[in-house]
Amino acid sequence: MGRPREPYDVRQADRWRMTTAKRDYYEVLDVGQTASQEEIKKAYRRKALKYHPDRNQDNPEAETRFKEAAEAYEILSEPAKRQRYDQFGHAGIGGAGIHDFTHMGVEDIFSMFGDIFGGMGFGRSSRSRGADLQVEIELSLEEVASGTERTLEFARNDVCTACGGSGAAPGSERRNCPTCGGYGQVEQTSGFGILFGRAITTCPNCRGRGTLIVEACNRCRGTGRHLQKRKVSIKIPPGIHDGQAVRLRGEGEPGESSTSRGDLHCYVRVRAHPFLERHNNDLLCRLPIGVTQAALGTKVEVPTLNGRVEMTIPPGTQTGQVLRLAGQGIPDVRSGRRGDELVQVMVEIPRRLTPRQKELLREFAETEDRSVLPESKGFFEKLVDYFSSQDDEGKKP
Ligand SMILES: [Zn+2]
Ligand SMILES: [Zn+2]
Repeated sequence: MGRPREPYDVRQADRWRMTTAKRDYYEVLDVGQTASQEEIKKAYRRKALKYHPDRNQDNPEAETRFKEAAEAYEILSEPAKRQRYDQFGHAGIGGAGIHDFTHMGVEDIFSMFGDIFGGMGFGRSSRSRGADLQVEIELSLEEVASGTERTLEFARNDVCTACGGSGAAPGSERRNCPTCGGYGQVEQTSGFGILFGRAITTCPNCRGRGTLIVEACNRCRGTGRHLQKRKVSIKIPPGIHDGQAVRLRGEGEPGESSTSRGDLHCYVRVRAHPFLERHNNDLLCRLPIGVTQAALGTKVEVPTLNGRVEMTIPPGTQTGQVLRLAGQGIPDVRSGRRGDELVQVMVEIPRRLTPRQKELLREFAETEDRSVLPESKGFFEKLVDYFSSQDDEGKKP
């Protein structure tokens, strides 16, 4: 089945779309379009604190507002994403790697933007936190519609299993650091930035430990870390968009103290479907049919994510006309409400005709009365007016 690639008007699809519209990000954060990065940061902090569910026990809307603000902040705080959003709206950032906040815990969101809430008693300190990791998975459109669970296998630099992260060979002793005498800190009496008095800094030789390894661990060569395979299972919520990420808290690499791990971000790529194209939560199927089928009406089988569905093409269907299969789209990642499948009929004019078919068509043409064809009547009348007005223009001196 050939697929004519006529440009598809996305704005038109937005008009068809009956699902709940997403709020404008600037409106969500209550800032103007020209707000500076600092203003956006402040606005987000204000909203996040205002709607933090802990402070809004009796307001069931608070969590939604809290997550909405996080999403708005993620987009508007990054110049590249903000620019795309300014230019194309919500449709422009579908594939720009945004997180799925709807299914993320409130505390996770708080720690994700931890730097903003630093010193406010929320989130984790970033100093000792380990590195975040990224993985990418590919899903079919069917998996997107139903949601799915995947096992992720990845390698991360983890605490050495032989030495428990100390870097010292098992059973070997550590010796006192000669630089700091075992204190882990040194007094700096000269150097840049020291004008008055003395400065105490972490010992550069033992990096604050106070001891040095005598015999390095074989497995990690004294680093205390080595690459290990890890398997975790992850739930992907239905309706997730291409480029969105699901975050697994604490599945990243361990921090300095081996305790505070970074996170794992699982980015989703959606494989192209041979017949269906996603537009927001609607699916678009371009369906080629013959001239006679369009004129006389017919029943056709249309591919959907739930198998083949029989659809009636009414007599007199025009090319480009859109028919709707309600509820055959993708569920909204927030509300769960399903979009529709839009079937765009593309009428194909036969390129080659047999002599018999030509004869029949000529015969058919003779029965046609151009002046009463409903679509063309208005057009030809306008055309006559247009040419006559042009003639008048030409006659003017
Ligand atoms: Zn080791
Ligand atoms: Zn030292």
